Amino acid sequence: MLALLTVQPDNNSTTGNYFSIENTYNYRFCYKCQGIKPPRTHHCSICNECTMKMDHHCPWVGNCVGLRNHKFFWQFLLYAMLGLLHEGISLKINESRLSPAGNIGLWGLMGIAFGCTIGFMWIFHTILLCKNWSSLEMAELGKNDIFAHQSVSESWKQAFGENRIYWFLPIRSPPV
Ligand SMILES: [Zn+2]
Ligand SMILES: [Zn+2]
Repeated sequence: MLALLTVQPDNNSTTGNYFSIENTYNYRFCYKCQGIKPPRTHHCSICNECTMKMDHHCPWVGNCVGLRNHKFFWQFLLYAMLGLLHEGISLKINESRLSPAGNIGLWGLMGIAFGCTIGFMWIFHTILLCKNWSSLEMAELGKNDIFAHQSVSESWKQAFGENRIYWFLPIRSPPV
């Protein structure tokens, strides 16, 4: 976590965007929470609280995705994708044997379609985590990637920890 908070602010940004690099990587004050916002923290109007390294507010999990749960969100996408693809492909393969007159094939196609959609999201979040980016900061970091010096392995371990087994288990792993 320390590495996330010791980013040097870039004061050259002139975009004036709320999510500009200079706004994001300085300490700011949240008038809604009445508290200091550490770098990369954003206020979520739905949760009505500040979230560190906020990625987005997810209505499906009913919470913000950020510093301490981006790994769990990534696992959620991975296992939802695998489950849906397994269900969809299994139903399609066994369609005629299971129910010649039913809608088994349609359910199979829906499973594959949803599995592929979640799969695209999973790939997108894998790329974000490899770059130490968040969805909110993506536009700004695309123009000025202040994490370009950081290796994929370093970025990954900031969110997933050192222990490779924990990368795939819903267990909190140091340093977050
Ligand atoms: Zn706040
Ligand atoms: Zn939220």
